[in-house]
Amino acid sequence: MYRTHTCGELRIGNAGQRVTLAGWVQKSRKLGGMTFIDLRDRYGITQLVVEADADADLVEKATSLGREFVIQATGEVIERQSKNPRMATGDIEIRLEEINILNKAATPPFTIETDTDGGEDLRAKYRYLDLRREPLRKALELRHRMAHEVRNYLDSKGFMEIETPYLIKSTPEGARDFVVPSRMNPGQFYALPQSPQTFKQLLMVAGYDRYFQIVRCFRDEDLRADRQPEFTQIDCEMSFVEQEDVLNTFEGMMRTLFKNVLGVDIPNPLPRMSWFDAMDRYGSDKPDVRFGMDIHEITPMVQGHGFSVFDSVPYVGAIAVPGAAGYSRKETDALTDWVKRPQVGAKGLVYIKLNADGTVKSSVDKFYSPEELKAVACEAGAKEGDLVLVLCGPKRKTQTQLGVLRLEMGGRLGLRDPKVFAPLWIVDFPLLEWDDETQRFYAMHHPFTAPKPEHEALFYSNRKEDLEQVCANAYDFVLNGSELGGGSIRIHNADVQKRMFEVLGIGPEEAEYKFGFIINAFRFGAPPHGGLAFGFDRVCALFGGNESIRDYIAFPKNNQGRDVMIDSPSEIDDIQLEELQIKIDVKD
Ligand code: ASP
Repeated sequence: MYRTHTCGELRIGNAGQRVTLAGWVQKSRKLGGMTFIDLRDRYGITQLVVEADADADLVEKATSLGREFVIQATGEVIERQSKNPRMATGDIEIRLEEINILNKAATPPFTIETDTDGGEDLRAKYRYLDLRREPLRKALELRHRMAHEVRNYLDSKGFMEIETPYLIKSTPEGARDFVVPSRMNPGQFYALPQSPQTFKQLLMVAGYDRYFQIVRCFRDEDLRADRQPEFTQIDCEMSFVEQEDVLNTFEGMMRTLFKNVLGVDIPNPLPRMSWFDAMDRYGSDKPDVRFGMDIHEITPMVQGHGFSVFDSVPYVGAIAVPGAAGYSRKETDALTDWVKRPQVGAKGLVYIKLNADGTVKSSVDKFYSPEELKAVACEAGAKEGDLVLVLCGPKRKTQTQLGVLRLEMGGRLGLRDPKVFAPLWIVDFPLLEWDDETQRFYAMHHPFTAPKPEHEALFYSNRKEDLEQVCANAYDFVLNGSELGGGSIRIHNADVQKRMFEVLGIGPEEAEYKFGFIINAFRFGAPPHGGLAFGFDRVCALFGGNESIRDYIAFPKNNQGRDVMIDSPSEIDDIQLEELQIKIDVKD
């Protein structure tokens, strides 16, 4: 046996026992002839001590230990003179009798501490060293715990975990596919699944009733802090269900996770908001409802007063920032520059300060009387002392900009505490989204989402305006401004599915080539079904109080989609290319 205990295990009750520990040397220091060593493993840190009068060889060995050496250490558990209440093992130390160096270590390129001196790139290159640090270990422990809770819950509800293939057919709709050349079928390619969507639906046709999988998905998209080219979903599907059944089941799953992992009770039932309300009130389909500052439309109040900017647009909206009436000219100018950045994209910003003394000051007071400005401020939900910020333009675009501004102001006011959780469902999404550039409809969720039965007539209309009004029983689970999951009730009828492809501008031949298998399957008795998928990495990150998902993935990729540790992607050798019958012609 290499060890009798782990480095996180020994307590005062073990005093007097002779133990053997194994682990990494976190640090060692000499103090008045004694040598102290912090020994670390996954479970914690235990202090080892070599007394000044110990065997000379032992003292020599203890002194020679470098950081991250792997050692085995034997000695007696004793009560510490100066206890450390911040450490679980802080009441004891091990008086060493023997040290066995199992492996030396090169000096690590950064300190293996919670606050490390290593930059992001360096830590990515030595990810296995970074993973020794406590914050990352805790993140992966949380992820493991969450996966375990998810499996327990879904198993208890009769869900079966079934694996689906990773080498599938390329049918890009949403994001770009990653493709894999097939050696046995030269000139042909597999695609890696963006999600197991069609397979889980086929499992419903096959009669499996309740499916789930904690599964890797692959999307070739531009990356951000909360996106990775390969990520994990908790993917689920159920037969003979309506939206209500799906929402209840997965609200239950999230409630269990919150309770068992964080000890947090979330509201029962969870609030629901229609997509239209979310857009109108928060300018986002993933509203952060930890704070108010709702968007209010003020178009009729501000038009017709000679201010041409407002008169020439279809929509004017405002938010009231609490307690910010004291913003200086410089600060409001800076805010104007901020909303004009391409990331926000507004043309300008109008403000109204509803001062604490009841007076009002505005960038447009030439056009409005103080009473009119006060009325507008009240309409925007302002109290005395608040700052009203106004944007204008096309309705949805302006609401989205106000939504971004609202999040920024909420952040500045400290209203976005990661320890506060405000989950909700967004429901009643439009089925389709018109894209001006390509002059076609796209599925707002995906092409397998069913129109609401009451909108069926609109769905078969050929008028763009009618199709724009079709809603779906589609739903997103939203937490603190992030979409954690989404799904829908599916089409289970071959004719409706064909019509959907037609609406999306996918011709009968293309539909047959890409999706013939699923249309065909629907001819053989498809049950009504629906489901959803949660972004597992993001769920873990938010539970851990973090924005970035990278810490919750053992071996993530960087912003360029590279794994700098294994140096991938990389070129492949000529023999491989020959076998695949592929010629490379890189254009620079
Ligand atoms: N497959 C969908 C997605 O990845 C989720 C679902 O509809 O179940 O977004």
